[in-house]
Amino acid sequence: MTEGQKTPFIVREIREQFPALRQQVYGKNLIYFDNGATSQKPQVVLDAINKYYSKDNANIHRGVHFMSQRATTDFEEARKIIQKYIHARKSEEIIFTKGTTDGINLVANSFGDLLTPGDEILISAMEHHSNIVPWQMLCQRKQLILRVAPINKKGELITEEFDKLLTKKTKLVAITHISNTLGTINPVKELAQKAHAVGAKILVDGAQSIQHMPIDVKDMDCDFFVFSSHKVFGPTGIGVLYGKEDLLDRMPPYQGGGDMISRVTFERTTYNELPHKFEAGTPHIAGGICLGEAIKFLSGLDIDAIQTHEKDLAHYAQDLLDTFEGMRIIGEAKKKTSVVSFIMEGIHPFDLGTLLDKQGIAVRTGHHCTQPLMDFYGIPGTVRASFAFYNTRQEVDTFIEAVEKSIQMLK
Ligand SMILES: *Cc1c(COP(=O)(O)O)cnc(C)c1O
Repeated sequence: MTEGQKTPFIVREIREQFPALRQQVYGKNLIYFDNGATSQKPQVVLDAINKYYSKDNANIHRGVHFMSQRATTDFEEARKIIQKYIHARKSEEIIFTKGTTDGINLVANSFGDLLTPGDEILISAMEHHSNIVPWQMLCQRKQLILRVAPINKKGELITEEFDKLLTKKTKLVAITHISNTLGTINPVKELAQKAHAVGAKILVDGAQSIQHMPIDVKDMDCDFFVFSSHKVFGPTGIGVLYGKEDLLDRMPPYQGGGDMISRVTFERTTYNELPHKFEAGTPHIAGGICLGEAIKFLSGLDIDAIQTHEKDLAHYAQDLLDTFEGMRIIGEAKKKTSVVSFIMEGIHPFDLGTLLDKQGIAVRTGHHCTQPLMDFYGIPGTVRASFAFYNTRQEVDTFIEAVEKSIQMLK
């Protein structure tokens, strides 16, 4: 879609396209503030899922028949939609994965194979477990060293410390674009420049960024960018790894099987070209096509207006929460997106989350797959409200009332 075709951003109209938001839980109108964990799906995506399985269901890439060819075309079309949306140079640089976790594991295994003992991987202290554990496993397997760039109490990367840890030994920087727990936006473009200056590559975990801001992998100049479909209004079980072509070409395949081969004999197998080299077996065809639909939907929206709206919701919620006595906001970075994590003195996050749930409000409680981060703050977990463009100030008001009520019940 071109710029001119974007529809003006009107929350009420957007909400109508998300059937899941129209339900009640425990007799209360649902307020869905768990978008950091997964997002709801617009009608166009639901329709695409239905259409695919009702009409187009066939295996792709090898079929001679009509349905197979149609499914192949749609699947490859989705790849192109995604390529354009994140501004990749070629659609061959878009690899379908199962999600962010799968994408990182692919890089850890495949790019990791090119590394040698003593090489270093640099991550940050605010990473999701899925951007920690695959590197730990790789470091064990290949005798590499994992370095962790620390953060300050506000939840921002400490630049000087990062700079000190980034050396000629660093082969890869793996860092989240936006922290799922704190909302911190990392300066990934700047980090990419620094990484490249010492000859390192950079992987950006985009699981929390693509649904909130425009993504341009060329401008960012990252070597890898990963995200999950389900957090960007698409189905679960599918995601994307973007990688620079020359790098992907140099990397060995991650998994072996059908579709990733060019020629197989018992003595020797040659591999298929990109992107198929990294897509062994039957992919999640419906998932890929419907992720394409979700991205198409997103590209029809005014992303600037979305950003303004989401930022407003987060500020509004945070300011109101801040008025409670004993309230501690976790994550106060200057550059932050629509996540508000908090704890109340003397109240376990789980208890608060449970009471909010009974009032129809879906939030997440716990460590948010960032246990080292919880250790850093010395807390068991937080309550996290994470917003999407379909949320409203009115919902925030109801949420604040519910928090107040819950606190009174728990004190
Ligand atoms: C959700 C998330 C992941 C993991 O995504 P999956 O869809 O579970 O694979 C990784 N990193 C961040 C920052 C996330 O928010």
